[in-house]
Amino acid sequence: MMKIDCDLHIHSRFSAATSSAMDLENISAGAAQKGLHVVATGDALNKHWLEEIETLDFKKGLARLNGTTFILTTEVEDEKRVHHLVLFKDLDSVHALRDLVKGRAPDMDVDGRPHLRMDGEEIARACHEAGAMVGPSHAFVPWTSIYKEYDSISECYGEEGIDFLELGLSADTYLASSIGELEGITFLSNSDAHSPQPHRLGREFNRLEVDGMSFEEIKKAILGREGRRVVLNVGLDPRLGKYHRTACIRCYTHYSLEEAVKARWRCPGCGGRIKKGVLERIGELEDGSSSVRPPYLRIAPLAEIIAKVVGSKSVYSAKVNRLWSSLVDAFGSEIKVLIDAPIEEIKGIDEATAGFIQLYREGRFTIKEGGGGRYGEIVFERPSGEKRPHGGLQKSLDLF
Ligand SMILES: [Zn+2]
Ligand SMILES: [Zn+2]
Repeated sequence: MMKIDCDLHIHSRFSAATSSAMDLENISAGAAQKGLHVVATGDALNKHWLEEIETLDFKKGLARLNGTTFILTTEVEDEKRVHHLVLFKDLDSVHALRDLVKGRAPDMDVDGRPHLRMDGEEIARACHEAGAMVGPSHAFVPWTSIYKEYDSISECYGEEGIDFLELGLSADTYLASSIGELEGITFLSNSDAHSPQPHRLGREFNRLEVDGMSFEEIKKAILGREGRRVVLNVGLDPRLGKYHRTACIRCYTHYSLEEAVKARWRCPGCGGRIKKGVLERIGELEDGSSSVRPPYLRIAPLAEIIAKVVGSKSVYSAKVNRLWSSLVDAFGSEIKVLIDAPIEEIKGIDEATAGFIQLYREGRFTIKEGGGGRYGEIVFERPSGEKRPHGGLQKSLDLF
């Protein structure tokens, strides 16, 4: 058995609002730097993207490039604007689903994430017929998820059933385990990345225990069969997710559920629309259940931690970039720096960053929660008695 880190949901440059840099070369290179073993192709139903994908050499459903392995995936939107994530067993399976949905997918070769004139049950049935796995994407977000539309899995998927549920950036295992109907359904944590930078790609991923690299092994792990399993979900602290709390989508003022109902979902401050947060939505669905599940490790993208350390507003600044590169070069990947590398060794590269990573690993930080479409922020408590290592540190800490 071996452990592999997999990000099973991303989008190519053919999807709306994605970076033009999302090609196979950049995705695989970015995934390798992050430390992912397996990354999604995304958008495999789109014929233009599929032509590029088909230049790769697939064996047992997977193909390698730049030290990373691709798995064939897509996301589709149904007639109720609910998103579904699809994992294909091989190229034939992609073509089979293309054929099955052809007449009801007007923009399949235009948009990377096609709009299907089908409901959830019809989509799940077609996926299973094509030999693919399917489940709801980012299940709790207020715009395009199963639980913005329905109160249960069966209302959406009927008799067909699902193979997994994707938590989304604003939820985690501990929140979602409180919903009884999800018992027995594996949770996935994926990045849904729209750009190849390592603070997006792999910002959430799954650690799977498998016996070799093949689609069948990944499938067994997701279904929890024959000793294969998901051993760890890794992702953002859900409080950082941009739809975690109920908030106005224009001025981002947070509201309780009662306040939002009383205000008829219009912001009393600015008149903007109030969107229900994932936390409040899960609060409506929970029934006191709790199921035994793999742990969920909360991480923050390394570039965001470094930006705090050097007092930079942007994760794209040259300063952040330099420090990020020297850390990743020293330890081999971002995941190793964040999770596995000894703090003492990180100190050898940069003392201040090592201090912050330690605070993060020990959970010694607070969070300004996200909501209404704005991401939350990490607020580190200043290590007591520690002197200010960089000019910007004090400033960034004093902000909150
Ligand atoms: Zn989506
Ligand atoms: Zn407002």
